[in-house]
Amino acid sequence: MGYENYKKRLQSREFVTGKFTLRDICYSDDAIENEINNLPPEHNHELWKNIKAVAEVFELVKVICNPTISSWYRCLVLNGLVGSKKLHHVKGYAIDFVTDDVERDYERLVKELPKYTRLIIEYKESEKKKWIHLEYNGINDKIHFRLDV
Ligand SMILES: [Zn+2]
Repeated sequence: MGYENYKKRLQSREFVTGKFTLRDICYSDDAIENEINNLPPEHNHELWKNIKAVAEVFELVKVICNPTISSWYRCLVLNGLVGSKKLHHVKGYAIDFVTDDVERDYERLVKELPKYTRLIIEYKESEKKKWIHLEYNGINDKIHFRLDV
């Protein structure tokens, strides 16, 4: 039931915050494969506040480097499934994305992005995968580093 609704809502082209659709916020191959309902609860105000805060920063990322979102909101079940012990994606204020050139664009964002809490270039040796993890929770700490995951 919840899962069917999730799949249906992924088709909507309506913007729910800024220029982002529900699909941008909660689409996940792993959720689909495992029939997990990864829809952000509509009445969780804290969660939506976080989603909107990071969306505002991500609009600027879009202008700077044409990103493709790989993971934004994750429900607890999905977060556990992908092996994350942290809750930044569960709370809605973290976005993972890739670009044509992750190294170049990470450097660019560190220099040009006016606000962010943490910007991390993450590298998974076992899968030879590299992506950028952006967090914005309202605090402009501008912490940035590399992390092997
Ligand atoms: Zn992340």
